[in-house]
Order: sequence, then structure tokens, then C-alpha cells
Amino acid sequence: MDKKRVYTFGDGKAEGKADMKNLLGGKGANLAEMNLIGVPVPPGFTITTDTCTEYYELGKEKVVELLKPEVETAIAELEKLMNSKFGDIENPMLVSVRSGARASMPGMMDTILNLGLNDAVVEGLTRKTGNERFVWDSYRRFIQMYGDVVLGMKPENKNDIDPFEEIIEKLKEEKGVHLDTDLTVDNLKELVDKFKAAVKNQTGNDFPDCAYEQLWGAVCSVFDSWMNDRAILYRKMENIPAEWGTAVNVQAMVFGNMGDTSATGVCFTRDAATGEDQLIGEYLINAQGEDVVAGIRTPLQVTKIGSQSWAQLACISEEERIAKYPSMEEAMPEIYKELDTYQTKLENHYRDMQDLEFTVQEGKLWMLQTRNGKRTGAAMVKIAMDMLRQGVIDEKAALLRMDPNKLDELLHPVFDKDALKQVKVIGKGLAASPGAATGKIVFNADDASDWTKRGEKVIMVRIETSPEDLAGMAAAEGILTARGGMTSHAAVVARGMGKCCVSGAGSLKIDYAGKKLEADGQTYNEGDFISINGSTGDIYEGKVATKEAELDEDFAAIMELAGKYTRMSVRTNADTPHDAEVARKFGAQGIGLTRTEHMFFEGDRIKAMREMILASTTEDREKALAKLLPYQRDDFEGILAAMEGYGVTIRLLDPPLHEFVPHEEKAQEELAQEMGVPVEMVKAKVNQLHEFNPMLGHRGCRLGNTYPEITRMQARAIIEAALNLKQKGIDARPEIMVPLTGGLKEYKMQADVIRQTAEQIFAERGERMDYLVGTMIEIPRACLVADAIATEADFFSFGTNDLTQMTFGYSRDDAGTFLPIYLDLGILKNDPFQAIDQEGVGLLMRVAVEIGRKSKENLKIGICGEHGGEPSSVEFCNGMGMDYVSCSPFRVPIARLAAAKAAIK
Ligand code: PEP
Ligand code: MG
Repeated sequence: MDKKRVYTFGDGKAEGKADMKNLLGGKGANLAEMNLIGVPVPPGFTITTDTCTEYYELGKEKVVELLKPEVETAIAELEKLMNSKFGDIENPMLVSVRSGARASMPGMMDTILNLGLNDAVVEGLTRKTGNERFVWDSYRRFIQMYGDVVLGMKPENKNDIDPFEEIIEKLKEEKGVHLDTDLTVDNLKELVDKFKAAVKNQTGNDFPDCAYEQLWGAVCSVFDSWMNDRAILYRKMENIPAEWGTAVNVQAMVFGNMGDTSATGVCFTRDAATGEDQLIGEYLINAQGEDVVAGIRTPLQVTKIGSQSWAQLACISEEERIAKYPSMEEAMPEIYKELDTYQTKLENHYRDMQDLEFTVQEGKLWMLQTRNGKRTGAAMVKIAMDMLRQGVIDEKAALLRMDPNKLDELLHPVFDKDALKQVKVIGKGLAASPGAATGKIVFNADDASDWTKRGEKVIMVRIETSPEDLAGMAAAEGILTARGGMTSHAAVVARGMGKCCVSGAGSLKIDYAGKKLEADGQTYNEGDFISINGSTGDIYEGKVATKEAELDEDFAAIMELAGKYTRMSVRTNADTPHDAEVARKFGAQGIGLTRTEHMFFEGDRIKAMREMILASTTEDREKALAKLLPYQRDDFEGILAAMEGYGVTIRLLDPPLHEFVPHEEKAQEELAQEMGVPVEMVKAKVNQLHEFNPMLGHRGCRLGNTYPEITRMQARAIIEAALNLKQKGIDARPEIMVPLTGGLKEYKMQADVIRQTAEQIFAERGERMDYLVGTMIEIPRACLVADAIATEADFFSFGTNDLTQMTFGYSRDDAGTFLPIYLDLGILKNDPFQAIDQEGVGLLMRVAVEIGRKSKENLKIGICGEHGGEPSSVEFCNGMGMDYVSCSPFRVPIARLAAAKAAIK
């Protein structure tokens, strides 16, 4: 026999099954499976995804010719099962035609319902059903769907109005009615006439009357839709190969709008919002599928318990509820029982929460669809843990079921959903650091601190942030910037603090001098309320109520499971003991990156730091550094103690020195006065520090190699802090890290300074301790010469923020101007500052790991760039054999889950 292209299902039999998703698409495979396990599904057939591929190879005519015999046989079988005939006038069988690819591609391709209608069939169906309105309503819907999808009448541009909608609106205006449901049968007949005239006018042809002609038109248009622009773009984004093709599902129509013994509805086998093990659903008697979601009539609850809580919320008495809004459990008890049996059966069968669609036609229940239901983060955790306890799934399945990114919802405050419905969106930026924040607008860090001290809640709005803004960022509820990408200063620091941040909102016009902000054509002044959602990037006008995050036992249990199966450990990036403690509570096992530069801004330290920068001799620099030493030692003691028993990687000073000096005239004058030097001298030094490309300038180990006294001071502070703790019986494990290494000599010079300093301290104090010296790998060259660097390094830590910046040549702080466009155009699939570019940056990393470990087998390797908390990057790092990933405290649970999943896969 020739290749099989059509798989039938119906009456408890099916030629396909659930594991044939590749050939039958998700929808087709599940429809077949439901038949096999005894769930009533309207019969039908699936045309395979392979046929779609043939369609593009052989062309439309050839494929229709090849399909014809099988489709006609399948239709004949359907007719037998439905006891009606396709295209017949007195006893017509209508069908639906739907796409269904292997992977779900929501909204990509359209559906055609009620196929098989024409003027004569409409008359016959009216005689058969006695329901003229239902028949004419179905007819006009069919012509519109068919016209739009098959005959190509839907406008290309989504701002242009659909020709059919235009006709409906005009008619409604003429008749003075608002809703489609207010249209009379005569109005619907008039609509059908006008629709047909529009078809003739626009396509030059009459609307097809022949049922088979309609069917072939619909089948081919589903195949065509696989190559529409929307679908191509979606596939690119989701990495779905074009060769997969889509299946076509043709199914007998069943109607929920045939009177009071008919109904239609949707339900979830568990609560998709909370995860509660409770059937949740809505239904409508005498209605069609879309009526439930269209909001034309108030849908009723499926279960009695659901109906009672709905009534309570709506302030409806029990008597009124029973009389007017009965649940399906009460109004159709037999059908409800049946539905309950099937929902349990389907959930047990698929071992996951199901999202179901059903229709009751004249007292007979039909299931139209089942699929794994979408759910909130909270529901995801609860459902997986409940199912594990109920013995439905095992531990590994519970972990694999979990989407690590969804945990984020549980860790940060969120906006109240009802409150959000009433607010205006005034802009959008990058979802830089999750959470929800609401507060008064302030435009600088000092105001943020001052206003907070007097009890106000503020959002700090900046064009961009710098280390100087740190105190303001800590004080504010949230941070909003007009510039900067996902690894900009604002984004990185906010994530570290677990603070809500929207960055790179390019449409905002910020006027510092006028203390105002222009968004969406409106001006907002200092003190006006604004709200930001760091999980979506949305910016709202006014105050929006927020809700605190709560972590429960199920969350803890999932984390414990993750710990059981993971291979890599998860560290945190933390600059303060507080951040370290937060991360430790989330299960962090060590610190992968402490950025020491943030420690130079607090209180009097910045003065000593500036003194050091302004010094013109080594001696003066050393004097200033001596003032900084005790501060640094205290900081390190705090952090090392907070992470007792785990490795703490402390990075030496990294940013260019100009970030520490004042750029405004007034501040320069103050500094000059404080230091007793002429203001011209301060200005000259600031000018001298100016660099055209500071990120490629005098920073990282280039600072340490040109001013080794800075490295000496920092190494001393770290080693002395650890020894002080050791004396108190605290197990401190410092790992000193050199930033921005590009080659062996550059690194070794720093490593030598660190080791000599340590030896000196050991000699001074008469005691020794273990410590490690290693390097960031964040310059492409370092990856290529990693074998040499490894000979002198105890560990490597990939700084993928800089590595991405330097590999692509995209400034991490300025990429916001073109990255979104590149993503839109499909030049980039993902923002490389969020998910590791495995092809390019990843290749460099692989080289570094391979040659690094070739020269030192037990070289410890981790990652501390922002990618360390992003699930696909974590999986990539696991695959490379890294020892750990490190990320901001609030991403630790996400990384732990991602690491466990990667180990299981
Ligand atoms: C990096 O470059 O990935 C890194 C962690 O360092 P920073 O973000 O401080 O430059
Ligand atoms: Mg870096």
C-alpha cells in the first residue's frame, strides 16, 4: 500500500495514539488517545504532518490527488458513525478543520468550524433542528471564518479592519443593536447575503457551495498557514524546524447550542491558580464554545462548591444561586458525574493537570480536547508535590515537570491582579529584576534615601545608574531606567538586592533639572505615584496594590529534591553579609562573586578612595589605602562569616577609577575643600581619568598591575579577615579572584602579589591558612590561552557579562538601542546578555574548559556572570562539566532547580 496519510479515530477506536505526536501533532495524538482509553470524542481523522512536508515538495494538486481516496474513505466512516451525510441537505454532517503541530503554536494557524453548510443545507438543518437562529448564526460564522482563512480576506495589516467585521458593525449600527446576539434571524440572513457579496467582490468568485470543495480549501489553507509569516517567526523564536509540518484534524461538529439539554464548557482538573486538587470549570447551557470565553453571558460553575464560592464573592444568596446560577453538578447531575469520571481518568492517564474542553449535545457529553494545563508558579509547585505524594509521579518527574523561571513568581512581591485591571500602562522596558513596586517618583539617589527616611515609598527614576546610586537603590522600592540592558549596572545591582527593576525603557524622557518624566505623552512630576513590574517590564501610572511573596513547605520540599539530584552546586553573587544570608536561606552553597567596588561607596570610605585616586605618588596612594584597609577587612569578615564553611570568591577591584570620582562641579569643589587641594587639581585628575571606551580601558587587573598596592591592600584585608575569623573558630574559606585576565603573565603578576602578601601576613602572625587564587575568564583571549593560565590558577570563573560584551562587540550598557530590533528582525534569537549564546560565546567557554582542564585536571570551574541564574545557560554549564554556577540571591532557587533538571536529563 502507498504511504498512510490519514489516521481515523472514533467510537473507541483509533489508528493513532499519544506517543505519535510527531506524525499526528499534539492535538491529533491526544484525540486518538482519548478514544483508546474510552473517553467520548467526536469522531474524525488526522492528516499527518508528513503530508504537510509533501505538500511543499509536490505541490497542492498532487497532494490532494494522493489524499483523496483516504480522505473520502475516512469521511464515509465518519458518516456511518454520525448517522448523517457530508453535504446532504436533509441530514447534513458538518465538520471542523483545525491545525495541530508537534509543538503547540498558539494563535499561529486558524480554525474553521461548521464546514459543510450552504444555502440548501441551511434549510435542511433548520428543518432538522427546528432552531433557525442557531443555523443561520452558524452559517454566517462559517462564511466569515472561511473567507478570512481560506479565501485570504483577512487583512495583512492588523490595524486594518476585517471586511466581515466592518459589515457586521455597519449592520448593527443600522439596526441600533450592540451585541451580535441581539441580531434577529432576518438580520443574520442579511449578513450572510452581504458576506457572500463581499466574497464575490474581493475574490471574483462565488462562495463555494460544494462540501468537498470547502473541505479541500480548508485542508490546503491549514498547510499554507504553516508557512505564513507569523508561523515562520514563531518557529524561529521557539526553534521549531520547518520540516516538522502541521497535521490537519477534521472532526464531526457537535453543538452545545441545540437547546436546554445542550451545553459547552472548559475545565481544569486542578486549580490552575493555586494548584488545589479540585476540579475548576465553567459551562453555559445552550451555547457555543466561544460564548464561554466571550463574556456575552455569565458562565456558570461546573462544581457545586465552585458555584458556592463564586456566589459568595458576587454577594448572591444561596436561594438566588440555585434558582438562577446552578452549577452543572446540580443542573445536569448525570452529565456532571460523567465529566468527573473522565477528568479523573484523563489526569491519571497523562499524569498531569489537564485543561479540558467539552460539549454536551442533547444530553450526550463529548470531550473536545485535553492537554497539559498552563498554571501559575504556585500551582506548578503544589501540583507536582501533591502528585508525588499521591504516587502519580516519581521524584525525577516532579523535578522535570517544573519550569525554573516560574519559581520567580513565588519569590517576589506581585501586583494584585484585580488592581491591575484598572491601571494605565504608560511604557515598557526590560524586565530586569522581578517583582512589583509602587511609589513616588524621585530622580536621584539622595532624594531616594531622604524621602525613604521620612517614611515615603519611592521609585528611583534614572536615565542610567552608576555605583554612586547604590544607597538610593537600596532605599527605593524599585528602580526604573531609560537606558541600559539586562547586564547594565542597574539590572545587575537590583537583582543582587532582590529589588524590582525595569531598565532600558527607551520611550521615557527624563528631565533631571525639571524633575519630571514624560511617558506616553503625559508628564509626571517628582512625587507623583508610579508602579513598575520587574517581571514583565510594564510601567503603570499611579499606585497599584502589591502582595508579598510567601514560601511554603512544598517549595522547601522541591528545593530539597533539587539538592538530591543536582551535580553542580549553586553559589551566589553577594556583596554584603545580608545578601549572603538571604542566599544561604535559599540554599546557596558559597559565594561565586563578591564585587568589592560597591564597598567603597559607604560613608567615609569614598573619601579615602578618592584620596587614593587623586594621589600622585605611590607613597600617598599607600597612605590612603591604609585608611581603606580596616573597612575592607570588616566587610570581608562579615561576608566570610555569613558563608561559614563554604568557599567565598572575592574579586579584586574591577571598574575604571573614573566611576569613583565626582563629575559635577559642586561635588568637585567639596572634594577639593575636604582634601585641601585646589579645585583645578581635582578637575584635572577627573579629566585625566576620562576614557573613550572605559569598559575596554584601565580596569580589572590592569589597575592591579599598574597599582600593585591596591591588590596588596585588598589581599591583606581578605587574608587578615579570614585569620581573624579562624581565631574565633569560624571556618572561613576565601578564594581571591583576579578580574579581566587576558593572558598568563598579566594574571601571574597579580597572583604573585597576592601570594607574597599572604606569606608576609602568615609570617607576621605566625599562623597559616588555606586560600585559593584564581581568575575571571571574561576576555575572549583568556579562553584561547586558558591552558597557560590554568598552570597558575586554582580556579576559573566565567564572567559571561563581559565575555558576551567582548565576543559580540556589543556594549552591555548601550545595546538597548538596537538589541530589541535585532530580536524583532530575528538576527538574534535571544538576548545574549540573558541566555548564553551557546554557538559563539559558548564555544569560547568550551575551549577554555577543555584546554584549562587538560593542563590542570582538577581545575575548579564555575560561572558568575548573570547567565548563572538563567535555566538554559545553567543546563549548558552542566553539560560542560562545570563545578558550580553563581547568581544573585533571588535566583538561587531557580538555578538549583535548573541544575537538578540538567543533571537528570
Ligand atoms: C562578568 O563580566 O560576567 C562579571 C561577572 O563581572 P561584572 O559584571 O562585574 O563585570
Ligand atoms: Mg566582568
